[in-house]
Amino acid sequence: MELRKSGINLIGNVPWGTHFCQFYETKDDLKDILIPYFKVGLENNEYCMLITADPLSSLEIKEALKKAVPDFDGYYQEGQIEILSYTEWYTKGGSFDSDRVLNGWIEKLDQALEKGYDGLRLTGNTFWLEKEDWKDFVDYEEAVDTVIGQYQMMALCTYCLEKCNAAEVIDVVNNHEFALIKRKEKWELIETTEHKRTEEELINAMEKIQKSNHDLEQFAYVASHDLQEPLRMISSFLQLLQRRYEGQLDSDADEFIGYAVDGAQRMHDLINDLLEFSRVTTKGKKFEDVNMEEPLENALTNLKLSIEENNVAIVPKNSLPTINGDYSQMTQLFQNIIGNAIKYRSSDPPQIHISVTNEANNWLFSIKDNGLGIDPKYADNVFKIFRRLHSNSEYEGTGVGLAITKRIVERHNGQIWVESEPGNGSTFYFTLPK
Ligand code: ADP
Repeated sequence: MELRKSGINLIGNVPWGTHFCQFYETKDDLKDILIPYFKVGLENNEYCMLITADPLSSLEIKEALKKAVPDFDGYYQEGQIEILSYTEWYTKGGSFDSDRVLNGWIEKLDQALEKGYDGLRLTGNTFWLEKEDWKDFVDYEEAVDTVIGQYQMMALCTYCLEKCNAAEVIDVVNNHEFALIKRKEKWELIETTEHKRTEEELINAMEKIQKSNHDLEQFAYVASHDLQEPLRMISSFLQLLQRRYEGQLDSDADEFIGYAVDGAQRMHDLINDLLEFSRVTTKGKKFEDVNMEEPLENALTNLKLSIEENNVAIVPKNSLPTINGDYSQMTQLFQNIIGNAIKYRSSDPPQIHISVTNEANNWLFSIKDNGLGIDPKYADNVFKIFRRLHSNSEYEGTGVGLAITKRIVERHNGQIWVESEPGNGSTFYFTLPK
């Protein structure tokens, strides 16, 4: 989660989607918070909007910002900050309309993103709010609070403490993540328990996922780098033994050394594949437009020898679309699936049908073979790392190929699965978002 500086020491860094409020008594209270809040926003490429009302006019806050922010005039002329009175925003057209205001923020955000800003930082003073609008405004705040998490927006709503009764203060606090209030000349932060709980749960879940990804990458790194060195030593001394003493010891000894050499080779293959698996995320390239015909062609070229040896017929059903993704990972995806379709062939000459379906939000690719097939009860297992349905003496392999395809597809926000029956071939499906 990307964090932004709030500019307010008491708050520190916050994610986009933060919606908080301030209770003020005086003009200076407002300046205390608004000036550092907008200074940081301007300095961090955010589009800034201030909706003003009594007791701090547009002109006054502008002057105060000018004093506090170096090159404020530059930001102002660039159009990075907009200062409007509440009559030009909340009650534009004569009355307060919750939907209009809400959509207005979203439109401003879209424009800001289009202009290359990172997001929208805003504040609105509610001094103008009269009792008859209170209910509508509470509903509006609730709506803001529900949706703001989806947007690159940060909102600070300021309320005049004198104008709120106790019930109203509770309404306000409940509809924000936290509230700033001054007690004995010091700003304090009040957090609402509901918000705090969901936030804590989210952070916990995120930390767990990040930790497990990190552990996996760390493990793969250790396995690939640190194990490779001693393994190289084992292999080369075993080979030396084999070369120098073959035929000089008894036949059992030759056989045992042979097994040890094979074992070291297999470990080498496993380690290399594990490294390749971890690289899907650590060494993935930036996404670009990829015409899927090209990676398919590359995969078929890489498999040329085995296609010829096995008399494979590749049957494309329709032409493939352009997607947004990692070019070389798309080649690897096709290569692993088609390679398996050939490796796990039946006695019939392999026929591989490739097609794509245009769905509402995705492209659905399918690769169908007429090979050995897979028992449906193992349909999920084959995508797990090191899981194999065949032994190494029947078919060489490490059980990493399909785990890599799954990682690639998931990195592209797609899904992958297989439908099959033993003896009736398999169809591998994967989706890629449009
Ligand atoms: P590997 O081929 O190295 O064993 P994979 O991850 O590519 O590893 O595949 C896992 C297992 O899934 C294979 O061992 C094989 O048993 C099964 N499998 C994969 N593709 C096919 C296929 N097209 N037809 C039948 N079985 C398959």
